[in-house]
Amino acid sequence: MQPLKIYNTLSREKELFTPIHENHVGLYVCGPTVYNYVHLGNLRTFTSFDILNRYLLHIGYKVRYVRNITDVGHLVGDGDEGEDKIGKMAKLEKLEPMEIVHRFTQDFHQVLEKFNVLPPSIEPTATGHIVEQIETTKSLIEKGLAYESNGSVYFDIETYNKNGGNYGHLSGRVIEDLLTETRDLDGVGEKRNPLDFALWKKAAPEHIMRWPSPWGEGFPGWHLECTCMSHKYLGDTFDIHGGGMDLKFPHHECEIAQAKAAYDRAPVRYWMHTNMLTVNGQKMSKSLGNSFLPSELFAGSHALLEQAYSPMTVRFFMLQSQYRSTLDFSNDALKAAQKGYKKIANGLRIIKKLVYPTDIIANPDAAQEKEISDAIQGCYDGMNDDLNTAVAIAHLFTLLKKINSLYTGGLAFESISAETFSNLQRSYTSILEDVLGIKEEVPAEMNGLTDELLQLYKGFKESRQYDKVDEIRGAFKSAGLLIKDMKNAIDWGYEE
Ligand code: AMP
Ligand code: ZN
Repeated sequence: MQPLKIYNTLSREKELFTPIHENHVGLYVCGPTVYNYVHLGNLRTFTSFDILNRYLLHIGYKVRYVRNITDVGHLVGDGDEGEDKIGKMAKLEKLEPMEIVHRFTQDFHQVLEKFNVLPPSIEPTATGHIVEQIETTKSLIEKGLAYESNGSVYFDIETYNKNGGNYGHLSGRVIEDLLTETRDLDGVGEKRNPLDFALWKKAAPEHIMRWPSPWGEGFPGWHLECTCMSHKYLGDTFDIHGGGMDLKFPHHECEIAQAKAAYDRAPVRYWMHTNMLTVNGQKMSKSLGNSFLPSELFAGSHALLEQAYSPMTVRFFMLQSQYRSTLDFSNDALKAAQKGYKKIANGLRIIKKLVYPTDIIANPDAAQEKEISDAIQGCYDGMNDDLNTAVAIAHLFTLLKKINSLYTGGLAFESISAETFSNLQRSYTSILEDVLGIKEEVPAEMNGLTDELLQLYKGFKESRQYDKVDEIRGAFKSAGLLIKDMKNAIDWGYEE
């Protein structure tokens, strides 16, 4: 097993990762609120945790990956105030809230599939766990850590802290500061303390998504679903909990408080937070109106987009920075990523086809062999250093150079052993495909046709039918592919 270090928001340090149960990892990631299309910012977070999941699997762990779907119509404001996002959309579209939820859950799945994000092991929904949320709320009331007020139930932060809770620890917030910052708009006169948060909210007459409870008709508070679902599927304490940085407070802080109060122990060993995708330095978000939808990227149909970008280009763009740094969207950066991706994908095509010749006598060059093994180790060192995909990619480019040299003859196969060649082949392919989730994107119109067309091309060349040769060359070009006429072979590749 590789010695993986991950940055733990709780300790604010990179820590060696050791799972609770040998060889097994319990991972929970906060999923989307399905009231609208996912945007590129959401995608960054889900891609980052896809890399974590993929890497853990790659180095030999069995992962139980739970990522929820938030389908209860929670309120817009963090302070339990505002409108219910799903209910608002349902009214706007004149649809049942569950139609909204279904539509956007499907969209979410389709988008993730396009970006080659692996599905989680369990994808529980908040509406499917109302019973668990009511039970947890009841037990918190019994323990004296929550109280009912006018049909709603609130978590009692003061009592929790008096009992040794440490509300604010994860996000580094200080209770006194929070108190001065908080405008207690909702729950005025209901909460004992303005910082108390809702476990259960009484439904106003116009609120559509509602369930019966011991406190009347209502709906659960936003933070409770993650506590109940992670506990149900991963146990009292599990290994890793993730989400975007914007969820640290109040969402994850409240999750910790609820779980500690309900199950008497800290729920999570490692808290991981991804940094934001920004546009001109500002967080990409639906409410700020600076978000692009994946469909707009593929079509290039947004005012801020100078051209269309493919899913793998976008994925590659995201992986070129480590998940804890901000990533700023720009056309220049995406165009550069497109070039880089095409280069890397050409390497993938080539290395899969290359075969170490059986009729040569190897005379390995120690320096060449070392460069290859150092670069492979560099990929793993990068990934082990808090999933630094940027470092791993830099080393993949070193491997790519070797692959290209073997392909063009600049580096003789004799200079490396058969074992080094197979290491190069296995590592380049598995790090790219299994760990980084990067795959070849053969344009749909050429899928399955490239080899046949290339045969025709060769035939036309031999019979000197140059108009036909040009025609086939043109067909490849319009699909973003290039025919390469080399000394001893004819091949095709992605136009870089
Ligand atoms: P939401 O549906 O708003 O709850 O967001 C789903 C996930 O996407 C959460 O983990 C958010 O932290 C994350 N997220 C939202 N906006 C961005 C962004 N601009 N960059 C990265 N992650 C984001
Ligand atoms: Zn959550």
